[in-house]
Amino acid sequence: MGRLVMKFGGTSVADIERIRNVARHVKREIDAGHDIAVIVSAMSGATNQLVEWCREASVLHDAREYDAVVATGEQVTSGLLAIALQSIGVNARSWQGWQLPIATSDAHAAARILDVNGEELTKRFETRKEVAVICGFQGVHQASGRITTLGRGGSDTSAVAVAAAIRAERCDIYTDVDGIYTTDPRVVPKARRLDKIAFEEMLEMASLGAKVMQVRSIELGMVHQVRIFVRSSFDAPDAIDPRATPPGTLICDEAEIMEQQVVTGIAFIRRVQDKPGVAASIFGPLSEANINVDMIVQNVSGDGATTDLTFTVPAADYDRAKDTIAKARTQIGYERLDGATDVAKISVIGIGMRSHAGVAANAFRALAERGINIRAITTSEIKFSLLIDEAFTELAVRTLHSLYGLDK
Ligand code: ASP
Ligand code: MG
Repeated sequence: MGRLVMKFGGTSVADIERIRNVARHVKREIDAGHDIAVIVSAMSGATNQLVEWCREASVLHDAREYDAVVATGEQVTSGLLAIALQSIGVNARSWQGWQLPIATSDAHAAARILDVNGEELTKRFETRKEVAVICGFQGVHQASGRITTLGRGGSDTSAVAVAAAIRAERCDIYTDVDGIYTTDPRVVPKARRLDKIAFEEMLEMASLGAKVMQVRSIELGMVHQVRIFVRSSFDAPDAIDPRATPPGTLICDEAEIMEQQVVTGIAFIRRVQDKPGVAASIFGPLSEANINVDMIVQNVSGDGATTDLTFTVPAADYDRAKDTIAKARTQIGYERLDGATDVAKISVIGIGMRSHAGVAANAFRALAERGINIRAITTSEIKFSLLIDEAFTELAVRTLHSLYGLDK
C-alpha cells in the first residue's frame, strides 16, 4: 500500500477524547499498510482566541509576532496526537513547519508555500515506519528564520502541499461534513453529496463561499494533481474498512469523472454591491487595503465620456471599501458612489457548461417566472453568477437546484 496524507480540522481535534479518536483513524490506515503523514489544525476555537489576544494586546500589531502567536495552536495538537498515537503502539513524531521545513514567502499571516521538504519524512517511513504528525497552517520564511502562517483555514493547504511533496496517492481531508454537496443542505434539503467533483468546479465552489476547504488548497491540488478526498471524521474509526470506498467526495481531474453532469452545484453568498461612476484606478487602493473584489461589471458608456462600474466585495469589507473609494475620490474623479448590502450572489457551476448551450437562459426564465429581479450577471467558462435581492436567496437557490435536476 502507498502513502496517504490525513488532515484533521479543528472540530476533529477539539479535545483529548477526539484526538484519541483521530489516533484510531490513523492506526487503521497504518495497519492496512499505508505510510502516513497527518496534518492537524488547532483545537476548534483556539486560533480565534489567539487572534483575539493579538488584537487586545494592540490593534495595530506586528504581523511577525501575530504569526508567532497564532502558529502555537497547531503545535499543541501535533504534540498531543503524537502522544496519543504512541500510547496505542504507533510510532509517531510531531513536526513544526520550520523543522521539515515548509518554506514560505514572507507575507506574514498570508504566506504562500514555496517548497516542502519531504525527505526526512519518507526516510522515516522506510526505516522506522514512523507516522509524521505535522502542524498545519504554519511554515518558515527561511531568509529571516521567522515563523509564518498561511491565512485562516490554511491547514488544508499544508495538507495538499505535503501530499505533493511525498507523492501521496491521496490526501484525505477529515472534517465535520461527509463531503461536498450540490448546495448548502441547510437551505435546500434536497441537496445531494457528490461522489466526484473536478478541481475547476471545486475551485469555483470554494471561491464562491462553500466553506469546506481553503481556496488555495484546491489551486495547489490542481497544479500538482493531488487527489483530495473530503470525508467525515465522526464515523467510528474501527467500523471503516480501509480497502472499501467510504462516503465522501473525491476532488480530482476532470478525466477521472466519467458521467458528466451539466451543472454540479450552486453556491451562494450574501454579499454587498458597490456602484461608483468610475475609472479603473479604483481597484488599486482597494487591493492595497487588502479588499477582495469580484464580480466586476462595467457597461459600455452611453455618452462616450462616462460609464458605470459595479462590483462586489465581502460583506465584512463593505464599509472599508466605501471608505477607500471615498478617500480616492479626487484621483478617480467619479460623480456618485452608491452601495447596497441587501444583495446576494448566486452562482451556478459545472464543467458541462462548456458543451451545453442555454444553461444560463433557462435560469433567467425560471427566476423571471418567480418574479426575481437580476441586478447583475457575470459568467466564466464553467460558471455564471447572478446578483439578486437578498430576500430571494433561498427561493432562487431552490428554484435553480430543481431546474438543473440536482434534487433527484
Ligand atoms: N487553525 C487555523 C485556523 O483556524 C488553520 C486551520 O484550521 O486550517 O484558521
Ligand atoms: Mg478548515
